[in-house]
Amino acid sequence: MTPPADEAAPKSRITARARSTPHREPPAPPRVLSIHAHPDDQEFTVAGTLAKWAQAGSSIVTVCITSGNAGSNESTPSDMTREKLAPIREEEQRQACRVLGISEVVFLGYEDGVLEPSIALRRDLTRLIRRHRPDAVVCGDPTVRFYGTTYLNHPDHRAAASVALDAVFPSAETRLIFPELLDEGLPPHHVKTVYIHGSTRPDTFVDISAFLDVKLAALREHKSQMGTWDPAEMIRSWAAEQGKRRKLAAAETFRRMILGR
Ligand SMILES: [Zn+2]
Repeated sequence: MTPPADEAAPKSRITARARSTPHREPPAPPRVLSIHAHPDDQEFTVAGTLAKWAQAGSSIVTVCITSGNAGSNESTPSDMTREKLAPIREEEQRQACRVLGISEVVFLGYEDGVLEPSIALRRDLTRLIRRHRPDAVVCGDPTVRFYGTTYLNHPDHRAAASVALDAVFPSAETRLIFPELLDEGLPPHHVKTVYIHGSTRPDTFVDISAFLDVKLAALREHKSQMGTWDPAEMIRSWAAEQGKRRKLAAAETFRRMILGR
């Protein structure tokens, strides 16, 4: 999980201009690839936005680079093994996606906890971008090392986000990078927009007031990680904090990159 960066952002960044800017948000992209390191990352960070887009007709594919089989310290029973945990968490992610209206989940099977920003991973993500041809890719912010004073951003999150961005550009749109993908029948694809969550410089605010409950329902599908903890209070407070700058009751925020040719 990743706390929203603006929770930790200095208050001085919330300028008078930002506070008075009327709320506008971009339309739902027709095709979306949502790329994350672990099952539940998507639900903690961007599930409200994805539910909103799915309801508006977006076709969304979720990519889980690992199957989260290192679990979490608090909720993982001591007799649990990596082999047993992987299919449990995969099924929880599928259920969460069903709740959100997401049509497909892809698991790449990398090991949880030791993810590296490798060329092999970049090739795998490039393959998925070329296969699904999304208008928008959703991923984390690889540049954020610290969230406030209480959370060190997980190395898997940083690696996943970094490689996702490298796959978007230049790999997906450059014909002679990974020429073996051409042999697989996968021509280059230009991703128009990248939605980066967890950024300390968000510029795009998605009103998720009507989708908070579905976000929570999706998050609760990750039963092996939630244990007896109810995430509602934390998620509501994050959403309220992120919405403040646009006077929204609940929001998810992004740094949005619109990529030129
Ligand atoms: Zn995670």
